[in-house]
Amino acid sequence: MKTSIVGYPRIGSLRELKFACEKYFKNDIDETQLKDTAKKIRLQNLTEQKNSGLDFIPSNDFSFYDGVLDTAFLLNVIPKRYKNLNLSKADTYFAAARGYQGTKGDVKALSMKKWFNTNYHYIVPEFEDDTQIKISDCKPFELFSEALDNGVKTKPVLIGPFTFLQLAKYTGQKNKNDFWESISNTYRDIIKKLSELGAEWIQIDEPYLVKDLSKEDTELFTNIYKIILKDKNTSKILLQTYFGDIRDCFNAVYELDFDGIGLDFTEGKETLNIIKSNGFPKDKILFAGVVNGKNIWKNNYAKTLNILNELKRLSVKTVIGSSCSFLHIPYTLKNEKNLSEDYKKYFSFASEKLCELQELKKICESENPLKAPEYISNAVLFSEPRSGHRPDIAEKINSLSEKDFTRKPAFAEREIIQKNRLSLPLFPTTTIGSFPQSADIRSVRAAFKKKEISENDYESFIKDKIVKCIRLQEELGFDVLVHGEFERNDMAEYFGEHLDGFIFTEKAWVQSYGTRCVKPPIIWGDISRSKPITVKWSVFAQSLTDKPVKGMLTGPVTILNWSFPREDISLKESAFQLALAIREEVEELEANGIKIIQIDEAALREKLPLRKSDWNTEYLDWAIPAFRLVHSGVKPETQIHTHMCYSEFDDIIEEIDNMDADVITFEASRSDLAILDVLKEKNFRTEVGPGVYDIHSPRIPQKDEIKNTLKKITERISPEKLWVNPDCGLKTRGIDETVPSLKNLVDAAKEIRSETKV
Ligand code: GLN
Ligand code: ZN
Repeated sequence: MKTSIVGYPRIGSLRELKFACEKYFKNDIDETQLKDTAKKIRLQNLTEQKNSGLDFIPSNDFSFYDGVLDTAFLLNVIPKRYKNLNLSKADTYFAAARGYQGTKGDVKALSMKKWFNTNYHYIVPEFEDDTQIKISDCKPFELFSEALDNGVKTKPVLIGPFTFLQLAKYTGQKNKNDFWESISNTYRDIIKKLSELGAEWIQIDEPYLVKDLSKEDTELFTNIYKIILKDKNTSKILLQTYFGDIRDCFNAVYELDFDGIGLDFTEGKETLNIIKSNGFPKDKILFAGVVNGKNIWKNNYAKTLNILNELKRLSVKTVIGSSCSFLHIPYTLKNEKNLSEDYKKYFSFASEKLCELQELKKICESENPLKAPEYISNAVLFSEPRSGHRPDIAEKINSLSEKDFTRKPAFAEREIIQKNRLSLPLFPTTTIGSFPQSADIRSVRAAFKKKEISENDYESFIKDKIVKCIRLQEELGFDVLVHGEFERNDMAEYFGEHLDGFIFTEKAWVQSYGTRCVKPPIIWGDISRSKPITVKWSVFAQSLTDKPVKGMLTGPVTILNWSFPREDISLKESAFQLALAIREEVEELEANGIKIIQIDEAALREKLPLRKSDWNTEYLDWAIPAFRLVHSGVKPETQIHTHMCYSEFDDIIEEIDNMDADVITFEASRSDLAILDVLKEKNFRTEVGPGVYDIHSPRIPQKDEIKNTLKKITERISPEKLWVNPDCGLKTRGIDETVPSLKNLVDAAKEIRSETKV
């Protein structure tokens, strides 16, 4: 039996690549130094994988910024605006990734999108009508040779042409149907070259196959691979899929002349069933993705063995593999010095998962697998009760009934009660929560965390910031104020740190995009709230002003989506636990006189399943109730807001309305306001605050510009339902650009107000 992985993290176990790139961007190091760092990381990865005993070691999974962008450069899918800058190859690449502003021109970056259902973001390739697909980079070849020089014959990894065409943007008249033939021919050339260099296996990633596919999609896939696999060279081709099962196209995949097929047994709920009902081609090898590449818990060998045994029974030739690239998990537990062994023994990061693959192989090959020491110790671990169980919480969740998810009275009635209580003007102005976090705030917060300053000093520091923030909003003329969120580093982490049930790592970074990494908290046990989290700050802020100050919370779905979730209970269970905890905070804010409470669900859409048919059953059916559970207990006069970081919710508009919030603010300034037509069409009842100021850019929006946007909005949304606000929190902005922008926003609202008759 052999072992394989789809890919490995590449940022460096201590984020060496991130730091080197950032130095390169600032001209502190040159290209050679940057490349040296990259090579060191690759060779470290190679050694690690080789020493673990891994049979199929990937190459070309390395990237300076993003693998899809690398593929675009490999295929010469490079928009002219970047080529025309006449920069070096490396700088042209970074210009496309990050934009360029300098002596040679001023161009924006290519856009960026979420990579399937992960928190990784890829760069969206752009085809122009005159794009000529041809091999225009040698990274796959160089990295294969580099590993070979270091004694390892790797399995080069390529992002597949089908996925690439599907994810790309077409800026002219042509579309994927105009490019598929030339892209297929180019992949043939690439494969030929890798073959000539001695590659025995080549892995082609086609994650797009796990999405809902139309007949045309499947045809396109087949046509592409008929060309690629025609008169195959000496290399064997592994078609790799991940993030789900291939229920729509397994027939097409089976029929093509692949030597190996990589299937996901972790997220692919139907994968085993497909094989049980339809068999698996005798002439192909199955690369079985049984070790989870997306989460950090140890593999449950008993469960994995069940799958492998079933495959054996069906006489499927199997390689034991990872479910997807380890890109989505941190490097190694070895860097975690503070986490006790009691926790660590349950976890497995990328490097530890390499060992799991070897253990699984050993177990499978042993005469009596169930007696293998590796199997036994794993079984013991999974049979031991874990700390962090709170039967009382499970009990609470079990006893929830419909009424706990239903706020009373109905929205229309509440709306009147709240309007009377708050007596806000038309077009009430507000912000999304955070105010600019200058360096002093970050350093004081860090010092407090390290216990370098006392709690008292820290509190007075934050209170001073809150006072200034309230005064500023009053001067600017806002109607509904915020306290500024100065006490928070990150909107999910902050709540994780203040709830029981979470644990934190020191160095467990995961690449989010380019040089950006995140360090998600881990949900360890049952979640509960033992003390108030935000109440003292909100109450203090409210004591400073007669205007309503919003209490600011992060919602259960967002906290869950930005953490590593548990595997021993369902996501729904965790979401409900979080909801009950945040619900207590909501009720305490209300009891302390807070009239408006905002519960952010910035990441609600993020984990929407890849297939539409799974949206409700696997996600929305618990995500929306989890949100309702948070606020269903408040009084009719308490106004509940929520916020989302995007406006693409045309397709889940009814579910959003069903969250039953009183007001929703969302990003709209960069989109074309198309969402507003949908809101109108669907009779969206929740009041809305479409963001009229793009906080993702340092640009100051002018008053008239905001006014015009507001006018356009009022053509679609009735003034009684409309709020005026920026499109997200101001945390990352500088104060100098924020103040004039907010002033323009308030002034625009005031003018529109005086011009509007209802
Ligand atoms: N309340 C948060 C803030 O203002 C919301 C951030 C977000 O949506 N990402 O920072
Ligand atoms: Zn946002």
